[in-house]
Amino acid sequence: MLDEDNIYPGSKYWYLTKLAAKCTAKRMVPDYISAKKMKEYKNGDVYPCMGCRSFLTPDTKGMGENGRHKYYGRFNQGVVTLNLVDVACSSDRDESKFWELMEERTELCRKALMCRHERLKGTLSDVAPILWQHGALARLGKGEKIDRLLYHNYSTISLGYAGLCECTRFMTGVSHTDPIGKEFALKVMKYLNDRCAEWRAETDISFSLYGTPLESTTYKFASCLQRRFGIIPGVTDKNYITNSYHVHVTEEIDAFTKLKFESEFQQLSPGGAISYVEVPDMTQNIEAVLSVMQYIYENIMYAELNTKSDYCQKCGHEGEIQIVSDEDGKLVWECPICGNRDQNLMNVARRTCGYIGTQFWNQGRTQEIQERVMHL
Ligand SMILES: [Zn+2]
Repeated sequence: MLDEDNIYPGSKYWYLTKLAAKCTAKRMVPDYISAKKMKEYKNGDVYPCMGCRSFLTPDTKGMGENGRHKYYGRFNQGVVTLNLVDVACSSDRDESKFWELMEERTELCRKALMCRHERLKGTLSDVAPILWQHGALARLGKGEKIDRLLYHNYSTISLGYAGLCECTRFMTGVSHTDPIGKEFALKVMKYLNDRCAEWRAETDISFSLYGTPLESTTYKFASCLQRRFGIIPGVTDKNYITNSYHVHVTEEIDAFTKLKFESEFQQLSPGGAISYVEVPDMTQNIEAVLSVMQYIYENIMYAELNTKSDYCQKCGHEGEIQIVSDEDGKLVWECPICGNRDQNLMNVARRTCGYIGTQFWNQGRTQEIQERVMHL
């Protein structure tokens, strides 16, 4: 948590922030929540995300002991993700048809989410005593149903979305960083939030809009798009689609502009979101890491820096291991010093979507990683 007592020189925990920056430069963690922005977005509360980016809806009632706001122990019922690029391509660039399809597809998402909810309803606390009886999530009695925890904002359920970037490109002909594209993209975000609000009012289940991590689904969605619509330049011509509201990984934009731009969308993605910037090896430039952290504190709720800290076990190279095409056009990892391509003899760590992956990725995700431009 970046807060007023740790973010500027002279503050009480500045020394810890400097150590954190050093660690981020080498290991990509910690990542950072701005307490300042979070208080603005979450009714004055500050709390960590669940997993890589999922955020609970603020507790306004005082669900904890002695009426305190409760965050630990609450949970999420699941996610269903809407492929926005598919909605766009299915509309033939006709905006009224686009909104009709949005209604249809979000309705389908609601049904799918209710399947998850219904599946959980009636579950007895006995199925997982540590979770439901001994306090990990709750302290229910033996034989008690978990149902009351599924309502009244105790747990959330997530409407996910993906590919706002390509969706906007198809519908408006420009990137969502362009003012015309941005207006359209924000309209999509507001629409999705409105749907969640309607469903919340109808069901008393806490629906919330969530920027899906899309770990390997990015490849699945991209393959399906190509099958249905063929190759549309800038829209379906990659083996991946862009995560949530993110700026396309190939778009030239500096770290500060990117964080500022994405912060507006992050505010509209209350169920979960993470922004990141791609940076080179920063271990010799901790001052710059600290500058980015201070910028995060002032401008965006949740963000992280993606550095490159790989290791070749064959020659001892420490730095970036690169992605190259092999003879058959397949993307493979290669040490730039000794040419080693044996994945068992190298350690590669990349931020996949929020989590840091080290087990290598499918071709879609590998292409996305290869094409990431530097923001600093
Ligand atoms: Zn090597």
